[in-house]
Amino acid sequence: MARVLFINGGSEGHINPTVGVVQELVSRGEEVVYFCIEAFRERMEKAGAIVRTFDGQEFIKAFIAGGRTYVLERVNGLLLTADVVIPSVLAQIEGERFDYVIHDSMFGCGRMIAQLLKLPAISSCSSFAQTEVSFNGLMESFRAEVPAEIAEPILDRFHSLKAEAVGKYNVEISSPYEVFCNPAPLTIVYTTREFQPEGEAFDPSYKFVGPSLSERSTTEDFDLAAIDGKNPIYISLGTVFNQAADFYKLCFEALGNTEETVVLSIGDKVRLSDLGAVPANFVVRGYVPQMEVLERAKLFITHGGMNSAHEGLSHGVPLIVIPQSADQPLVAGQVARVGAGITLPMQGLTASQLREAADHVLSQPSFKKAAEKMRGSLREAGGARRAVDEILEGIGRSHGGS
Ligand code: UDP
Repeated sequence: MARVLFINGGSEGHINPTVGVVQELVSRGEEVVYFCIEAFRERMEKAGAIVRTFDGQEFIKAFIAGGRTYVLERVNGLLLTADVVIPSVLAQIEGERFDYVIHDSMFGCGRMIAQLLKLPAISSCSSFAQTEVSFNGLMESFRAEVPAEIAEPILDRFHSLKAEAVGKYNVEISSPYEVFCNPAPLTIVYTTREFQPEGEAFDPSYKFVGPSLSERSTTEDFDLAAIDGKNPIYISLGTVFNQAADFYKLCFEALGNTEETVVLSIGDKVRLSDLGAVPANFVVRGYVPQMEVLERAKLFITHGGMNSAHEGLSHGVPLIVIPQSADQPLVAGQVARVGAGITLPMQGLTASQLREAADHVLSQPSFKKAAEKMRGSLREAGGARRAVDEILEGIGRSHGGS
């Protein structure tokens, strides 16, 4: 039995694909010690991990303190989380032995932790993967397009935060890319190479294993029997960019009091009472069992989070993607490219446009057909089982020194 140190952060989208990976690792006899924020303790314990946590509030505060407008500000935010995560992890594993580290490709300072513990590392990438060349392209545009009086203080801050982390933790950091993408000798990406933008640009150390879908054993109160046989339209903006009361009201206007059954997940930032009267054909919750709802859905109106899009397509459900931020426009572009849905802009969206878009996707069989095709290719990719095959093979190879 090997002992695995799993380092993640505090975002549901980065946690969910690892649930199946942990279950699979444990079923093959590995012992997994999993670091994340307290909110995900139960989920990861049920998956079979020994869970340890760091301070979620401090973690988010540190990340946001880097700034949110430019990628380099997010890099700075990630560097600021080092002092929240690293001392806490080191204190909680003192005197323990681990054989390898699996770390999130973004959150948790995993690359630094693996370096300072001198352990083999595997990166768990829950978004599309990014090559160093394309990330450096973003950095170049930042330098070229952002006025110097804004860009320079951000760059200076990067250099001083980097120097601080290097000095304090005795690690090497040679570029913002290393902080943002946490590259490792082996990277598990939860999509297919075909769906990944510029998939052919990634070397064989990137393993495109497809979505890692699993029972999440959450305990939300939702009556699935009430939507059985109803083929609902499911709407969600995910767990981060979901403070959108006006959008939810627009959904009421577009799809309320129709023949459709609509399930709407509004997240934890908007209160149901802020939305006024709920149409009788809507089921509105702060959080829903998304996989089970998708099993029954005929259309998914989503923000295009990487997990949501893959979960929808893995159930053969066509999508209307309304990207909010982050990698969502990229996901939306890929969904449209494969013909499994369409994209709508959030800004200026009207109820009649949303209604027409829903009618369009539901009435054209090509969308459903493309989504069904995606279901086949995503599921064939292997998911968590293949991820663990690759992890164990990679670790065996690195132990064997070849
Ligand atoms: N999710 C869920 N119920 C909800 C809303 C979201 O189970 O009501 C899950 C969803 O299945 C997905 C994750 O939360 O696995 C959201 O991740 P995604 O990458 O789609 O978006 P993010 O929340 O990171 O923006």
